[in-house]
Amino acid sequence: MKVLIIAEHKNGQLSEATRELFGLSLGQAEVHAVAVGENLKLLAGPLGQLGAAKVHLIGDPALASYTGESLGQALGQFIPQLAPDVVLAAHTPQGKDFAPRLATSLDAALATDCIQLSLAGAQVTARRPVYAGKATAEVEFTDDSLKVITVRPRTVKPPEPDATRSAEVAEVAVQLPGQKTALKEIIASENVRPDVTEAAIIVTGGRSLGSAENFSIIEDFADSIGAAVGSSRAAVDAGYRPYRDQVGQTGKVVSPQVYIACGVSGAIQHLAGMRTSKHIVAINTDPEAPIFQLADYGIVGDLFEVVPQLTEAAKNRNGS
Ligand SMILES: Cc1cc2nc3c(=O)[nH]c(=O)nc-3n(C[C@H](O)[C@H](O)[C@H](O)COP(=O)(O)OP(=O)(O)OC[C@H]3O[C@@H](n4cnc5c(N)ncnc54)[C@H](O)[C@@H]3O)c2cc1C
Repeated sequence: MKVLIIAEHKNGQLSEATRELFGLSLGQAEVHAVAVGENLKLLAGPLGQLGAAKVHLIGDPALASYTGESLGQALGQFIPQLAPDVVLAAHTPQGKDFAPRLATSLDAALATDCIQLSLAGAQVTARRPVYAGKATAEVEFTDDSLKVITVRPRTVKPPEPDATRSAEVAEVAVQLPGQKTALKEIIASENVRPDVTEAAIIVTGGRSLGSAENFSIIEDFADSIGAAVGSSRAAVDAGYRPYRDQVGQTGKVVSPQVYIACGVSGAIQHLAGMRTSKHIVAINTDPEAPIFQLADYGIVGDLFEVVPQLTEAAKNRNGS
């Protein structure tokens, strides 16, 4: 079985979500990786150390800035030449954008947002959350056509790089006919903290914070433990937080190591975005709040008292 991992990268660094793809159980598969963009040579070493036997670099100034269209064109030409059985991409905003496009253009089978993958001989099976995370569907591919699979970030740990390994490197040229879309400008986010989709720890606040200013309690706690700040939709709708922080069905889907929900009731639409977190902590004054049914650890208490104490404890532990 031949597996191709599509490498996401920024400023010469692989994304964490890409590194994680190498941590999936790929059995005896022959693992290839492809990077698309400009100045790609630095990526070959890390990709080889993570487990790629061969790294394909599609370098072209026209690919310097990501657009789904240009990446789709480049990969649409390269993938039939390599003829992998499975194409793996991270279920990031980029992966969500280009994977369906790629699957359609290559007439491939598609499974997105998978949280488990099994390769047994020629049989590929994936599991993906459905019904807002209330159930998991097992997807079996019924023929031997190409399979495009995106994997939810933080589903598996990335492997430790093996410095003794290196990959064969191949430069690939593609033709990029006229583009219908062009990237005009990237406006950097004002967020000084990690994004909720990338963070290992998230501290989320709900409507109960009562104001944008009160969210400083959540921010202080998040900063003391290196976490991202998340928000329920009610807090976003009330104008306490920007939409980029919203976790849930109509916000972002996250899967951190630790999710700390402060004054969040645990509505089904919120749970849809954080249910697969590895450890869930809830702080709520209402012992009957639905979030406690999912939480591994619960504190029944007023967040305005509990959260500053946790911040204090974290700062003392950090020695600052
Ligand atoms: C189509 C649709 C999509 C939606 N998408 C999303 C989504 O993506 N994300 C999302 O979050 N919601 C979403 N919602 C909204 C969702 O149904 C809930 O309304 C929302 O999640 C509630 O936010 P909350 O928990 O902050 O507020 P509330 O439900 O009002 O809960 C506040 C909680 O804080 C507790 N509390 C109050 N004071 C304190 C205190 N001092 N200390 C500790 N605890 C306290 C209360 O006991 C309560 O449990 C969606 C709804 C619909 C219909």
